[in-house]
Amino acid sequence: MPSKWVTSKGSVITLVVSGRNNIFLVESQDTVLLVDAGMGYMYDNLLLKIKKTGAVPSVIALTHAHYDHVENTLKLKEHFGAGVLIHRAEAEHLKAGVNPEDKPVKGKFTIEGENYPPVIPDIIVDDVYEAGGGIVIMHTPGHTPGSVSVIVDDEIAAVGDAMFNVFPGQAMVPYVMDRRMLLKSWKKLLDTKCGIFLPSHGRAITRQTVEKVYKKYA
Ligand SMILES: [Zn+2]
Repeated sequence: MPSKWVTSKGSVITLVVSGRNNIFLVESQDTVLLVDAGMGYMYDNLLLKIKKTGAVPSVIALTHAHYDHVENTLKLKEHFGAGVLIHRAEAEHLKAGVNPEDKPVKGKFTIEGENYPPVIPDIIVDDVYEAGGGIVIMHTPGHTPGSVSVIVDDEIAAVGDAMFNVFPGQAMVPYVMDRRMLLKSWKKLLDTKCGIFLPSHGRAITRQTVEKVYKKYA
């Protein structure tokens, strides 16, 4: 998969780290945004690769609060002085350092899975949030209740775990909290003009593949 995409308006999306998780850096005219923070073991490499681009992220947009997407958030926030963005539905999870599956009981969360360093978010997103420079954060729940996608110039979308493409031709996510909701989110994504969808796990997915898989499940 290429490691860089450029929109017709000149926004650049760089795959800074790939492997178990893809981490994307979005540079538009007036905003530099990192999509997800990745797992702890990735930190040194991630920092090196971000520095290589010469860009300094001002926002860390978390596609959702699963530990494999957020473990480095606190360290990166402190390093870059960046604002952390998350959807309202998972803000409390992020503050507690727990996964979206964990439920609050008497003000405390029950811990089911792996936890991570808690982070106080700076930007809370609801349905749609304009991050500036043609970058729009869109609520695309289903995989988790607070999943969001990052839409760049209405051409390319970084979708977090709203899609998966570990095997060729695949797009459906193996783990979904609410599949009907996920398919509604796919419809929302297909209602944009985006032609390329970048998942956090696996390779870029074409609009054609998303349409085909959507028809199969919808
Ligand atoms: Zn996830």
